[in-house]
Amino acid sequence: MRRPLEARVHAHLAQGGFQSGAELARRLGVSRSAVWKAVVSLREGGLVVHAVRNRGYRLAAPCEPLDAAKIRAALRSGVRERIRDIETAWSLESTNAALLARTDLAPGQADVLLAEYQTAGRGRRGRAWLAPPGGAICLTLAWSFREVPRDLGALALAVGVCVLRALRRRVEEPIALKWPNDLMLGDRKLAGILIEMRAESGGPTYVVIGIGINVALGAAVLERIAAAGTRATDLKSAGADPAPRNAIVAELIGEMVPGLAVFEREGLRPFVEEWKAADALRGRAVRVQTGETSARGVARGIDIGGALLVETPQGLRKFISGEVSVRPEE
Ligand code: ATP
Repeated sequence: MRRPLEARVHAHLAQGGFQSGAELARRLGVSRSAVWKAVVSLREGGLVVHAVRNRGYRLAAPCEPLDAAKIRAALRSGVRERIRDIETAWSLESTNAALLARTDLAPGQADVLLAEYQTAGRGRRGRAWLAPPGGAICLTLAWSFREVPRDLGALALAVGVCVLRALRRRVEEPIALKWPNDLMLGDRKLAGILIEMRAESGGPTYVVIGIGINVALGAAVLERIAAAGTRATDLKSAGADPAPRNAIVAELIGEMVPGLAVFEREGLRPFVEEWKAADALRGRAVRVQTGETSARGVARGIDIGGALLVETPQGLRKFISGEVSVRPEE
């Protein structure tokens, strides 16, 4: 299938530097106004494209286009064989939704789907996950457990440790884990995890693990996220090179696949110490919202099953992830 013009314009601009509208139009075999319309549409999605008279267009933060062959080639052996399928799409409603619809993945194998842009990216509780085209890593990895793993409810915590291990190679500043499913730099969200699943009774458990990593968001998207009540940051602001997204994706898959195999055998236990060492909330005053009720207290880490411990005036309370939202108190 021919990729949309936005994707092809993005791929040219992703090489960095200025490209004139006329040159882009010639290379892509379209009119200059078609190029302009594609740039407008990329900007509407939140991508920062500079346009300078007599010089042309330039991306504020060039990131290489996602490329399934490059990702596969960068996987080490032992991991590569476990990946049945890697696909990259220009635009999808949601990478989780697309993989949730599949039914035929054998245990011990993974499918990976990435999109440059999600038109309906999902967070928890029906909330939106926002990212500009080409400025993030929106990845879903589907996995099928042979049987229901013991600590399934804490899978997001184990995945958090895997994402942390991968991103640490790129970011010097310490990355923290905010219970249950976010990766933080200071009080800003760098990445989020959304796990959705389908359990067949007595049979394998099929999970889709969505990971959104902010690479270079741009001011407009940062503002839209702030308007929804979250402070966000990205790899670029943390001093990491935003360009080599395919290598970053390969590093991520390289941590996730062995991590999932360990989780299947041993549950959360092998991840707990690393999780605790990166706990963003420990010792902080928090408000925990569960449906209509909220509790206040001091976060006291997690227990061996991944439940959040909060010391409240009524005593130590445990929260399991589900639909719980935790906010540090200012
Ligand atoms: P809470 O903060 O209540 O614990 P959460 O951390 O589980 O919720 P998610 O549901 O995982 O949040 O993600 C959705 C929320 O994340 C949205 O409400 C929005 O404020 C914020 N958000 C959306 N896109 C991004 C992004 N690219 N980076 C950081 N935060 C984002």
